[in-house]
Amino acid sequence: MGRRFTACARGNRPHMTASASPALILFDRDDTLIEDRPALRDPREVRVMPSARSAVALARGAGVRLGVVSNQPVIAEGTVRRSELQAVNNAIEGMLGAFDVWAICPHSATAGCACRKPMPGLVLDAASRLGVPVDEVLVIGDVGSDVEAARAAGAGAMLVPTPRTRQEEVADAGNAVAPDLLTAVQCALRGAWS
Ligand SMILES: [Mg+2]
Ligand SMILES: [Zn+2]
Repeated sequence: MGRRFTACARGNRPHMTASASPALILFDRDDTLIEDRPALRDPREVRVMPSARSAVALARGAGVRLGVVSNQPVIAEGTVRRSELQAVNNAIEGMLGAFDVWAICPHSATAGCACRKPMPGLVLDAASRLGVPVDEVLVIGDVGSDVEAARAAGAGAMLVPTPRTRQEEVADAGNAVAPDLLTAVQCALRGAWS
């Protein structure tokens, strides 16, 4: 398929002098940290994405705070219970370690809420709960709405596409594209993000 990636975003963050790393990385959940499975409610069906373990461990070890920002319309639709969602998220923490913050939109795609990505609500909520300025936040996700939510909030963004990511979403992300999660975090830690 020959999809080519820029190694990293070329971040230019002149206002940041002490460290060019993000203070907080917010990961999308489905198809970013774990494989996207429809109506995932069984913790035994959680499968982490390639390099998710090493990427999360690298960022955590560098002192970056970590969170998850996830649209879960399955709650509003009634196909997954909140307790089941929590069990799945607990399983993810069992595999990847604890996250500092989770921000989840439980609303339907048509609810018009302020939190469902591409709206900025989840990103703003996660940042404010941790007291991190939003311009020190990087969002990493697999689709355009992750990037759009980050940009709308004033955060940085990086796209890690899967074969299911649409080509125009990859194009729209410009050079903020990484081939896998570990590469994305490595870029972030050396300041190559924006
Ligand atoms: Mg996703
Ligand atoms: Zn919502």
